[in-house]
Amino acid sequence: MTAMRETAGLAAAVAALDAARSVTVLCHVQPDADTIGSGLALALVLHQRGTTVRVSFAEPAELPVSMRSLPGVRHLVPADHVPAEVDLLIAVDCSTVGRLGALADRLSGAATTMVIDHHQSNTLFGSINVVDPGAESTTSLIMRLFEVWGVSISPDIAHCLYAGLVTDTGSFRWVRPGTHELAERLLATGIDGAEISRTLLDTHPFGWLPMLSRVLDTARLVPEARGGVGLVYAFVRRDDTGDVRPEEIESVIDVVRTTAEAGVAAVFKQSRTVPDRWTVSLRSRAAGPREHSGVDVAEVATGLGGGGHRFAAGYTADGTPDDVVGALLTALG
Ligand code: MN
Repeated sequence: MTAMRETAGLAAAVAALDAARSVTVLCHVQPDADTIGSGLALALVLHQRGTTVRVSFAEPAELPVSMRSLPGVRHLVPADHVPAEVDLLIAVDCSTVGRLGALADRLSGAATTMVIDHHQSNTLFGSINVVDPGAESTTSLIMRLFEVWGVSISPDIAHCLYAGLVTDTGSFRWVRPGTHELAERLLATGIDGAEISRTLLDTHPFGWLPMLSRVLDTARLVPEARGGVGLVYAFVRRDDTGDVRPEEIESVIDVVRTTAEAGVAAVFKQSRTVPDRWTVSLRSRAAGPREHSGVDVAEVATGLGGGGHRFAAGYTADGTPDDVVGALLTALG
């Protein structure tokens, strides 16, 4: 998206926010700190301005524990408390309608719909779209929106925005010019960046360690995948996870993707309700030896019914472990 289109999107977004009587912000299913941080930052600002606001996500029923200390969680409501007809509906960090899960039907009951997102695969499903695949996080786009809107950034708002920035950049591994400047502006409000990172990224219950042991035992390397780029993958089976939190399950890909011999990493996470269904996380390398880097996993995931970013994407697969690995190898080509 060109800068000009995005600026037009921001102006339209501000006009819609100013005009709204009430705002409903929807985060994606299996929420992460970028979607929740974006939703709560919007809620804090709207509430302060006297606009009725609620934030929700379709599933799971509870907010992941690591995000419960984010400011503004009082604005979260259960999915079934989101009315069928709303005034302004904003989807944050959602590339497609499907990412809204069971709340997708609220789009048709909204007077105005707005999409704020940074996924390359975004389908621009809002009547107003603020979408920039170059942004490192959706909270970065929320910050740009707040600048155009003239919002002053309180520590609570900064905390929410920083949460999305630090997690979506992998603790500032995947950065671009301007990333650290944005971090500096947020930190200058007095927030405790180290504590926010520790809570969101570096705290797991002890049960994570034996779970990792079982899961990593399933890891396999396919050096010949995609003409020698290499694939490494592992399975997170329900029997191996016990009752660990989503945070522990989502952390597995960050261990698997460090494999030097593979340019693509995949983690197959078994559904809790349908045994032959897997949620698949894909990662590729932005840098490194040429033979192991540069695979566009958003393209691969989109071909398999999912979506995402160039170096981080995902999809859902049905079948036996052999089936789903075979389908991925075929898609990788
Ligand atoms: Mn994001």
